[in-house]
Amino acid sequence: MKLILFGPPGSGKGTQASLLAKKNQIPHLSTGDILRFKLQQDDNFAQKLSKIISGGNLVPDTIINPIVADKLLSNDCKNGFILDGYPRNKDQSNFLIDFLEKNKLDIDLIIDFIADTNTVKKRILERSKIENRSDDNLEVIKTRLDKYFAETQPVAAMFKAKFKEKFFEINATQEITKIQYDIENRLKNA
Ligand code: ADP
Repeated sequence: MKLILFGPPGSGKGTQASLLAKKNQIPHLSTGDILRFKLQQDDNFAQKLSKIISGGNLVPDTIINPIVADKLLSNDCKNGFILDGYPRNKDQSNFLIDFLEKNKLDIDLIIDFIADTNTVKKRILERSKIENRSDDNLEVIKTRLDKYFAETQPVAAMFKAKFKEKFFEINATQEITKIQYDIENRLKNA
């Protein structure tokens, strides 16, 4: 099963991705998690990444595209994957579509998590009390949301047009279990 998830920060796509990954025994590829993992190495590259991420900006495509390509070709992904946080802009989207075609990988479902700005802001601030992410404060949240609406939402719209039958919009303001239920139902017909 191959899935792509879209949705603003705080829309709960990470939560659903990890539930789906467990249930279907496929890897959850969160580019945010992958990048945060790289921050643990204390080298120049990590410092450069850390600056970009804590400012709420996007890491350059030249860094993230090959990371995703490597993962998708790895043995872990031979039974499928859940892409969470990628593609996030036009370049990444072109790269991914081309990559999927070249490698004959067919996406089963694209899920777009729809949530209003107030809900996601509230959720991110709640999360910030538990997790210690440098980008979970009001000012940076605003940058991340602006980036999402300016760069990522148009990509989701493009996927919606290109993969009409495989595109599923979920009301992400619902409870976690209801979202899970709706997604599972949709997957039965994927
Ligand atoms: P969220 O979507 O909740 O803001 P993520 O964990 O998905 O959080 O991403 C955190 C940060 O990691 C982003 O703000 C960005 O700096 C970086 N990042 C994640 N995915 C990408 C990507 N596909 N392209 C560029 N940067 C990315």
